[in-house]
Amino acid sequence: MMTNTQISALLDGARQKLTQRFLALEAMEQENFSRVMDAFRAERVAVRHFAPTSGYGYGDDGRDVLERVFARVFGCEDALVRPAIASGTHALALCLFGLLRPGDILVAGSGKPYDTLESVIGLTDEVGQGSLREFGVEYRQVDLNKDDVDLDALLLTLEEPRVKVVALQRSRGYDWRASLSVARLGEVAAAVHQRRPDVIVMVDNCYGEFVKTQEPTHVGCDIMVGSLIKNPGGGLAPTGGYIAGRGDLVEKCAYRLTSPGIGREVGSYMGGYDRFYQGLFLAPHVVTEALKGAMLTSQVFSALGFAVSPQPEEERNDIIQAIQFGNAEGLIAFCQGIQYASPVDSHVTPEPWAMPGYQDQVIMAAGTFVSGASIELSADAPIRAPYIGYMQGGLTFSHVRYALGHVLEHMSQKGLI
Ligand SMILES: *Cc1c(COP(=O)(O)O)cnc(C)c1O
Repeated sequence: MMTNTQISALLDGARQKLTQRFLALEAMEQENFSRVMDAFRAERVAVRHFAPTSGYGYGDDGRDVLERVFARVFGCEDALVRPAIASGTHALALCLFGLLRPGDILVAGSGKPYDTLESVIGLTDEVGQGSLREFGVEYRQVDLNKDDVDLDALLLTLEEPRVKVVALQRSRGYDWRASLSVARLGEVAAAVHQRRPDVIVMVDNCYGEFVKTQEPTHVGCDIMVGSLIKNPGGGLAPTGGYIAGRGDLVEKCAYRLTSPGIGREVGSYMGGYDRFYQGLFLAPHVVTEALKGAMLTSQVFSALGFAVSPQPEEERNDIIQAIQFGNAEGLIAFCQGIQYASPVDSHVTPEPWAMPGYQDQVIMAAGTFVSGASIELSADAPIRAPYIGYMQGGLTFSHVRYALGHVLEHMSQKGLI
């Protein structure tokens, strides 16, 4: 049992240990913010770009300028940034269907992709939903070797001339593995292109934006995809996703988003675009706050003797912090503590439930302003040994620190720490 004074001392001590790391993060934030700011100025963002539009959305300047700002920030030719992209999974599916044609081969170069992509690719028993497999797109997978891309094995798959896309996932997702660094993604892209200049290197960049001073598109990856209710929405974007990269490839995705012949020319948004612009403006700061929160969490739980990934001072390439609790009680108490410390629905107690599409029961804590936004402080976990909790987000460091205080108190009351 820990007293409140002991909990405060633990948090203060952990924060102290991270002082140098926080300084480095602030330097990174400044660099990312400058890039965002330069893009706003270069595109002459003005109040009129915030206006809502209706109907077809022909000549929607707010939409078009937002897309150019994103392309500049990500150092690439073009970007699709749309409220009509419903989620990260939708953006990834859009990109894959935009790029691949019947008979083509998709290679997953960083092992089994994120859970929700299994239905998109056609790895499940579901039929009739129009997966890539139903459209005649074949799939190969190259598993990670010691948390790293197995480059030799990946290059070997390129012997098949029908390989069109190599997909890589930057984030750990919900696995106990390291995330891939931007530098490594660049090396892999260079090696793939050297062997097969025609092959498209696509990156699932979810949770990765602004965690480093460069994005995959800065280092030679052809196209990347992400969600606006994660990092680049800065906590303000109410919905949406993006696809950014080479102009010819983004255009193909635009034809898939709306219609061949029409592409990106249509798409209105009655909600107005101010929150997308302001969210991007805030994103480098918000992501830095989330990273500080993740580091503090890592430091605190490793001090308490739990296995954590990443380690407090380890290189980070995404905003996820994983903690191994070793038993279901600890994991559940952790998630409940996060929920009780949320600005929305703090009075609700999350319980494990059988979520459709998952093998094990799942528990989720998300007391967020934007429904399901995981750039806001949230935690989730399947109830399965070794009982790993995944935490991410936090619009402010103060919130994460506050939440950790509650989590520790709750776990302590239950005799779990
Ligand atoms: C969140 C995430 C997705 C899917 O995004 P949704 O918005 O939940 O559909 C895909 N890949 C990775 C790595 C993610 O983190």
